[in-house]
Amino acid sequence: MRIIQKYGGSSVATIDLIRGVAKRAITAKNEGHEVVVVLSAMKGETDRLLKLAHSVTPDPSPRELDNILATGEQVSIGLFALACQEFGEKVKSFLGFQAGIKTDDQHGRARVTDLDPARIRTELAKGRIVAVAGFQGVNRHGDLTTLGRGGSDTTAVALSIGLKAELCEIYTDVDGIYTTDPNICDKARKMDRISYEEMMELASLGAKVMEIRSVELAMNYGVKIHVRHAHSQAVGTLICQEDSDMEKTPVRGVTLSVNEARVTLLQVPDQPGVAASILNVVAKAGIVVDMIIQNRSHNPEPAVEKMTDFSFTVPLPDYAKTMELMEAVSHEIGAKSVVGEQNIAKVSLVGVGMRNHAGVAALMFQALAKENINLSMISTSEIKISCVIDKKYGELAVRALHDAFELERPGDKVI
Ligand code: ASP
Ligand code: MG
Repeated sequence: MRIIQKYGGSSVATIDLIRGVAKRAITAKNEGHEVVVVLSAMKGETDRLLKLAHSVTPDPSPRELDNILATGEQVSIGLFALACQEFGEKVKSFLGFQAGIKTDDQHGRARVTDLDPARIRTELAKGRIVAVAGFQGVNRHGDLTTLGRGGSDTTAVALSIGLKAELCEIYTDVDGIYTTDPNICDKARKMDRISYEEMMELASLGAKVMEIRSVELAMNYGVKIHVRHAHSQAVGTLICQEDSDMEKTPVRGVTLSVNEARVTLLQVPDQPGVAASILNVVAKAGIVVDMIIQNRSHNPEPAVEKMTDFSFTVPLPDYAKTMELMEAVSHEIGAKSVVGEQNIAKVSLVGVGMRNHAGVAALMFQALAKENINLSMISTSEIKISCVIDKKYGELAVRALHDAFELERPGDKVI
């Protein structure tokens, strides 16, 4: 079998851990498999390199920054290869460009456009383990690019596709994907399987185990991913196509995000084009809006009759900038004022089974009401329901929902 094994930064944080990872790859090879290992930079290294670059200039040019950031993974694969050799194993390490990973020109968040893994195939045929630097590729000009934070996952999935690997293993410092963050809820349960779509929602809502683009790529090509602990033999979580078992459970996971803030324009004239002019300004600044709520006042008072309040959420780091922009916009469009709120949390339920279940929202709101938690915004999609609440109730809400949907036990909660 051809196996891709990806090890994250925490799994290669020290020389001892790198030796352990080398042993694991060698064991797989001795079991008769062809093994390609994708490595991240040692824990904290990418952050250290970023800081170093920012100590020279607050706004480093993306091309040069990529040359700096790509070194983290280069060190990891070299050390891994040496560790393998110390164990008497045949191995060769490759940087992204040597492994034939071609990308577009977007430094810092490049997309893989093509793969030519000829050299990897040659080395595998010679009976070698191949180590590939994650997170990097080369563009059409021959310049190094990086794939965005967490991008080694994408390297692993791309290689799985290009090399037609039977198995893509993502080794990390947790033993799989949990129903919620075990640090918040001690009843959190590791799931045996989860669908690509659910994993993408969970990743976009703040579950940090997998990088979202890698899951999307895996979904598009049907690559099965096994997420598991780097230093344990336990079976982890399989990310795969939705199947009939999964559909029985309306909710698979609960997430909490405290990384957003809300901005509200009060008493906006209720006219066509107003929402567009507000959000255009935000979009032009490159700020991504998540939830949006507009509610027309039904107060018959003439002064507010044709007015509406307009609220939306933005990532917390973009809050100050958004408030500044909205002050100007509110002036232009004749809104009364702008108010902001940073102490919010977004709690979400995710599950493909929601498609076929009525009543998920009702049970969610009931569970939150029981804890006296007020909802200030609600949004739903086919497989997700999110509520914005007061930040101080975030963790309580997660536990209440985990209990209400009985996520601690596998199987099908009927509602
Ligand atoms: N080293 C990169 C990062 O820290 C890529 C990765 O770990 O996947 O984001
Ligand atoms: Mg990672």
